Amino acid sequence: LGSFEHPVCVGLEVAGEGRAVPKASGKPDDIFETDGQITKRPIRALTLSALAPRRDEHLWDIGGGTGSISIEWLMCDPTLTATSIEPREDRVDRIRRNADTLGQDRLEVVHGTAPDALAGLTPPDVVFIGGGLSAALLDWLHVHLPTGTRLVANAVTLESEALLAQWHEKLGGDLLRIELAHAGALGPRRGWKSAYPVVQWSVTL
Ligand code: SAH
Repeated sequence: LGSFEHPVCVGLEVAGEGRAVPKASGKPDDIFETDGQITKRPIRALTLSALAPRRDEHLWDIGGGTGSISIEWLMCDPTLTATSIEPREDRVDRIRRNADTLGQDRLEVVHGTAPDALAGLTPPDVVFIGGGLSAALLDWLHVHLPTGTRLVANAVTLESEALLAQWHEKLGGDLLRIELAHAGALGPRRGWKSAYPVVQWSVTL
């Protein structure tokens, strides 16, 4: 599976399965082992676009879950590195397994809760919040991260969405609401099944 490290332009092969995985961000959900806590493909594609990795940058992925954001970040370029922060031990183990399976060894996985676990980590160029969004976390990041650090936060609940609206008013940046629907069975015919809207705040501190 080391071929993930040096992708070709169109696709790369998953050893054993003979399956081409696209180079674009927003890779198929099923390349990751998951317990369901995963940013799904279309939202992941938009999130990687907002994270906008550049050579040599380091990511903090707060609320690692399955590890899909960190792993796709690393797949963008071999100079990128990442730290994933996740409080659940079973998920920490799963993130490590996914990184191994997909050949991404530039991922550090920290078993801990943000913001407490953040002090002392390799300083980030970019921070993603995919879980654990709270006033305390945003305050901590605002106080401790240097000007120029990029931050992207995804919110699904009304409470976390309200927090992002407040911080958008305070610091500016881009507040995006993503509403997606997939066609599914509706009785004998088909209808749109809406996913929960995701509010995404992107800002340069
Ligand atoms: N973006 C991930 C999914 C995130 S699910 C992916 O695509 O794989 C949200 C995760 O945030 C959960 O695993 C949860 O355990 C974690 N979490 C919750 N509170 C947290 C906190 N305070 N600090 C770090 N992680 C937290």
